[in-house]
Amino acid sequence: MANKKRTKKAVKKKGGVLAVLAALLAGLFGVGWYLGWFDEFLKEEPEPAPPVVVDTDELSIHFLELGCWYTGDSTYIKIGDTDVLIDAGAKRVSATTVGDYIEQYCTDGKLEYVIATHAHEDHIAGFVGDSTHQGIFDRFEIGTIIEFAQTESTSKIYQDYVKERDEAVARGAQLYTALQCYDKKDGAQRIYQLAEGVELEILYQKYYEEDASTENNYSVCCMINQGNNHYLFTGDLESDGEKSLVETNNLPHCVLYKAGHHGSKTSSTDKLLSEITPEVVCVCCCAGSDEYTTNDQNTFPTQTFCTNVSAYTDKVYVTSLSVDNENKVYAPMNGNIVFKSKGSTYSVVCSNNDTLLKDTEWFKQHRVWGETD
Ligand SMILES: [Zn+2]
Repeated sequence: MANKKRTKKAVKKKGGVLAVLAALLAGLFGVGWYLGWFDEFLKEEPEPAPPVVVDTDELSIHFLELGCWYTGDSTYIKIGDTDVLIDAGAKRVSATTVGDYIEQYCTDGKLEYVIATHAHEDHIAGFVGDSTHQGIFDRFEIGTIIEFAQTESTSKIYQDYVKERDEAVARGAQLYTALQCYDKKDGAQRIYQLAEGVELEILYQKYYEEDASTENNYSVCCMINQGNNHYLFTGDLESDGEKSLVETNNLPHCVLYKAGHHGSKTSSTDKLLSEITPEVVCVCCCAGSDEYTTNDQNTFPTQTFCTNVSAYTDKVYVTSLSVDNENKVYAPMNGNIVFKSKGSTYSVVCSNNDTLLKDTEWFKQHRVWGETD
């Protein structure tokens, strides 16, 4: 009897403690809500846009949004049944965004060519993925991997990249460095035929062999040639690399140029632009994000880049826009930028809108067009 009483009392006491705890938790939740502790979980990321329609007989070059606020590169190229992917940034989570995007166009599950320009996370993370985001190397059958000839990276993402890459090679992928391609060594080629009249050409620049002061200058550079039309990709190559690229190649006029290093002030130098005189320039970045700098003039795409490029064209497109740096919220700027060409004429169609960079609200507030410094 005495025992029963004690138990009853204990239960009563326990109930009281629980009620106090619940009240405390509710109070804490209210304070947390007020202070914005849960904003991270509540913020909505933009929904992916419907795919841009591409004819089966045209070459299409897609500059992809990456499913996160962070700047990075991923360019998907398709002609007929041949699929090429240059880089897969920006973070491991991008693997799903990039993979889902490719699957809308690539119906046979095979990427014939994959190029990893250099060993930075914002270019290779999506090849790797993580436990919930299947990496590109794992998700697709890979034909040929062409990668940087040099790196000084010891990062975890690079180590994971090597592991996933080697597994792809064990499953049958061919692996070459850009230098092996340029030198046509060990079975590698300098020029790969993608389709009738369309080729992928690996270009030379001296940092395939010499030490560079920045990892960016190890970037693989390549050209897609479609008849007399040329489309240039330089990864994150900076001014020293651009100088070498210009001096060691007879670069033609380029209809399309992927802005080097996300529209950084150290790339897209006049040395390069005056050779290629680009008509369309696509920038893969999250415009205005303070990921790398809080100096407004130097956030991507930088004022210097805008000034340099404005001498040649106003057809400049940008993938994403930072709408809230503090909470790392992004929105599409042009969105996925799709350049399409059957050879003679080309068009640019974007998933969000086709507004030129200089006509965007962000540009009007942060940049000047045609300014000389
Ligand atoms: Zn980069």
